Amino acid sequence: MENWTKITMKTPLVEMDGDEMTRIIWKMIKDILLTPYVDLNTEYYDLGLEHRDATNDQVTIDSALATKKYGVAVKCATITANAERVTEYNLKEMWKSPNGTIRAILDGTVFRTPILVKGITPFIPSWTKPITIARHAYGDVYKNVEATVPAGAKAELLITKEDGSEEKILIHEYKGAGVLQGLHNLDDSIESFAHACFQYALDLKQDLWFATKDTISKKYDHRFKDIFQEIYDRDYKEKFETAGIEYFYTLIDDAVARVVRSEGGYIWACKNYDGDVMSDMVATAFGSLAMMTSVLVSPEGFYEYEAAHGTVQRHYYKHLKGGSTSTNSIATLFAWTGALRKRGELDDNQSLVDFANKLEKASIDTIENGIMTGDLASMSNLPNAKTVGTEEFLLAVRDTLETLL
Ligand code: NAP
Ligand code: MG
Repeated sequence: MENWTKITMKTPLVEMDGDEMTRIIWKMIKDILLTPYVDLNTEYYDLGLEHRDATNDQVTIDSALATKKYGVAVKCATITANAERVTEYNLKEMWKSPNGTIRAILDGTVFRTPILVKGITPFIPSWTKPITIARHAYGDVYKNVEATVPAGAKAELLITKEDGSEEKILIHEYKGAGVLQGLHNLDDSIESFAHACFQYALDLKQDLWFATKDTISKKYDHRFKDIFQEIYDRDYKEKFETAGIEYFYTLIDDAVARVVRSEGGYIWACKNYDGDVMSDMVATAFGSLAMMTSVLVSPEGFYEYEAAHGTVQRHYYKHLKGGSTSTNSIATLFAWTGALRKRGELDDNQSLVDFANKLEKASIDTIENGIMTGDLASMSNLPNAKTVGTEEFLLAVRDTLETLL
């Protein structure tokens, strides 16, 4: 570690700063674990709520466009404004969720992966490897139209085509009152979802599972199944075989049963609603939201890394009052290491890749040696588990890192 020459970076990383406790952690990570070792080359965008408000949210759009230019971004958790926040920050408008804005521009799929450490046993103890959830982020029940239907009504689907011709399908003749829902999805969106999943599986060299209810939904869900299969056969089959990985399709209920019995170590692609439900199930079963990483992968191969949790508001208010905090920085730190490693891979910068790997190892070793934040200490079955403060944890990671460099 003596005479360390700082690692240089060829291409800038898009850096999206954020809010509250995670903004505090963001700076600590940079000061304690990054800038002493890496000559950080970032293009900085301040997505903190005040600056989003000052720029009429233009900064969020600019940061997403920069991600398209450079290819890799790292994002801090941000406040999604609601009525309370409008008052708290005296906002001009209730700005949209930054993640929603970025996702709309990059058109990506979000992959969430838990970080496993010894001493914290998943609620499903056979899960010894991480399960990554890939959630389709467009359509179905999230873009539905709904109605309540009175008794005696007849409901029909009417499709008016471009040439004016019509197709009418009877939904139901209601004897008693009831409800009705109209869902849709788009081939384009399903195709980019499929590409993102196949590409990410190749990236991680892990099997890809996909499941729908195509036996019941013979047109809608079946379309998902067919699109995945066509794209796989045409573009990925050979690459998967070379990489020694598998694409596996099954029914959603069969998938759930297999996931629970599995040891993990694969990517599970889910339709929008399944992904919403299953990602909470997987995150909870693995132990903690503070140990979930998240990466948005666009079909063109742009990457945006972040933590899966929010800005940890309760801890921030405590911090503002001068109280000591023990906030877990692992997911935010892994957003940085994920982004640095990807940048290194794209730029053929092996020392950057090695540094990111060693920093991740240092973080995990530190926890496995018994030094951790309160959220983990309360779940750990290590006999020597010791709770440390937010900054103290990062300093301990630095000590471990120094022994690895
Ligand atoms: P949160 O920030 O995820 O925190 C919820 C609770 O989970 C915390 O109060 C804490 O529990 C625990 N927790 C989460 N992350 C932790 C960590 N790193 N270390 C230790 N404990 C952790 O969710 P929230 O409080 O509901 O939301 C706060 C703000 O975040 C909101 O304004 C929301 O809009 C925003 N948000 C942003 C994103 C994003 O940018 N991706 C995602 C979700 C939410 P205890 O208090 O019990 O210790
Ligand atoms: Mg949800």
